[in-house]
Amino acid sequence: MAKRQFKSESKRLLELMINSIYTHKEIFLRELISNASDAIDKLCYIALTDDKVGLARDDFKINIVADKDKRTLTISDNGVGMTASELESNLGVIARSGSLQFKKEMDENAADKAADNASDLDIIGQFGVGFYSAFMVAKKVTVISRAYGDSGDGENNASKWVSSGADGYSITACKKDTPGTEIIIDIKEDTDDEKYSKYLEEYTLTNLVKKYSDYVRWPIFMDVTKSRQIETDEKDKDGNNKKEWEDYIETEVINSRVPIWQRPKSEVSDDECAEFYKEKFLDQADPVAVIRVSAEGLVSYNAMLFIPSVAPYDYFTREFKAGLQLYSSGIMIMEHCSDILPEHFRFVRGVVDSQDFSLNISRELLQHDRQLKVISTNIEKKIKTELKKLMDDDIEKYETFYKAFGIQLKYGIANGYGMNRDLLADLIMFYSSKAEKPIPLAEYVKNMPEEQKYIYFASGESISLLDKLPQAEQVRDKGYEILYLTDDIDEFVVKVLGKFEEKEFRSVNDSDLGYENEEEKKEIEQQETDNKDLLEFVKESLDGKVAAVRLSGKLKSHPVCLTTQGEITLEMERYFKSMREHQGAGMFGEMQAERVLELNAEHPSFAALHDAFINNKEKAADFSKLLYGQALLTAGVPLEDPAEFSELLSRLVF
Ligand code: ADP
Repeated sequence: MAKRQFKSESKRLLELMINSIYTHKEIFLRELISNASDAIDKLCYIALTDDKVGLARDDFKINIVADKDKRTLTISDNGVGMTASELESNLGVIARSGSLQFKKEMDENAADKAADNASDLDIIGQFGVGFYSAFMVAKKVTVISRAYGDSGDGENNASKWVSSGADGYSITACKKDTPGTEIIIDIKEDTDDEKYSKYLEEYTLTNLVKKYSDYVRWPIFMDVTKSRQIETDEKDKDGNNKKEWEDYIETEVINSRVPIWQRPKSEVSDDECAEFYKEKFLDQADPVAVIRVSAEGLVSYNAMLFIPSVAPYDYFTREFKAGLQLYSSGIMIMEHCSDILPEHFRFVRGVVDSQDFSLNISRELLQHDRQLKVISTNIEKKIKTELKKLMDDDIEKYETFYKAFGIQLKYGIANGYGMNRDLLADLIMFYSSKAEKPIPLAEYVKNMPEEQKYIYFASGESISLLDKLPQAEQVRDKGYEILYLTDDIDEFVVKVLGKFEEKEFRSVNDSDLGYENEEEKKEIEQQETDNKDLLEFVKESLDGKVAAVRLSGKLKSHPVCLTTQGEITLEMERYFKSMREHQGAGMFGEMQAERVLELNAEHPSFAALHDAFINNKEKAADFSKLLYGQALLTAGVPLEDPAEFSELLSRLVF
């Protein structure tokens, strides 16, 4: 019988499949199972109104049989089947139904195919390509199909389609007992790069079904190896028959069929959800929250989302793949869809299932897909609500979550010019000087005494350093709580937020802390005028290291503190410096904070300084340097020249 030729575009696709060095060849099984399931859907539908089908709902099934000796893998179904002419038109040309979009992409990619094979191949893995994917693992494919209602004459009631690839295919008549389709794949020989034999292994096949087709609603049967204990004739020392383990084969349904996210909420326990999460997303810890969404309307979908309690080891690396799994009626079509999950919630794992997703969905399409936008907006709201609820109802759990992912929320606020400020402000926490642990901003505001004007914060390298910060002492003594910012990003977050619940953030370094009374302020101004020459002298002695020297109203027991003026703070300076070191100069330029040395006029050190200024200028210059060094140390800023400082100390003390 004459070989028939594939249509030219099919031929090109086939060649691509056959020669691909693609690592996701495994999706071929998903494609064939999906086709089988569709075919059963069709016949089951016919059976609703046609008694002659003679099959009840429970009779429909898909079978997978691996024969290692013959090196064949057979996937069969008792669905609607295909006539000879359907075989010809369905499998002879690729440009049908869902495959259309894929073909278009192939055509677009064909031009630079030789140059960049990878881009084509990626498409194959991500999106369904249907029946043809079998050729990624097959040296020959045989399809034996009998269409329902096409009984023909006994011996020739079915058709057989055979192809070994791009050179064409043949169709001949044959006999098949019942309607349905049987696809026999002759598995390719192993090569150094690819062990095709694995597609004949029970282990691989059951795992592939679990991974991609677990929720296909028809049962998928396969022979699986089991173990049982049997009694032997041999006796043990007590005279009992010895037992030993024996393997046996049993044909079993290997898919779960009804996805957990499609079962009613009331029927699924928290434990079941947690187990599902751990197995599917390979986490050892229970999630802190499970979110279930079931939406109908403009877009209908089910989603089951999880908020993990620990960050995966690669979370903060480029390796981590964020995104939700997309399912279309129980079939996984994409493993990491990041377009559906906002960046600031990228720690969320889960699945979204919608009949409205097409199997052959492409990445380009997804980005412009309005349905997807609707879903992603909804999902964002749900996650926010759930996190807020967790914070309100179970702060301990929230703290666990926050330890792992709080920084992600902070980046969410700082990035995108504060676009997500309102969404995320409720969810962040900072360490409180009073509670001695991170607290939500709402709690801070709730705790504020009536007369307190601002939300106070201090930023520095560590909690212990901030706890001893000279300029924080007075604020704390007033009974006000201070938020200690220790993450690099924190100051940017506070800057972007500006306010929370109408209360402005204010650094303890600020010259106006909102509680100084006018008289005190005037007094300090007067003292500054009286000591103008002294302050000028101190500044000059420090040789350009500080932008100003002032008398401070915010010091209590300490002699000095270091603050800054202008936009750039010491923390930002430190941050930019580390960025420069990591990413090279240029990008962040030389960002220096303008330092201000604040002196405590009530402290004995000031009297000593004053005295030296009148009687011994050299000593006064030494005192200035000493005080500046002290200010640096308490602020956690390294001394520029520790040896010189040590020498200075000896000179003054001994
Ligand atoms: P798609 O599934 O995207 O339409 P395929 O290349 O996988 O593309 O299949 C082409 C067509 O062949 C299907 O639309 C279907 O009509 C038919 N087909 C494939 N497999 C089967 C099967 N097991 N039983 C019946 N028809 C099938």
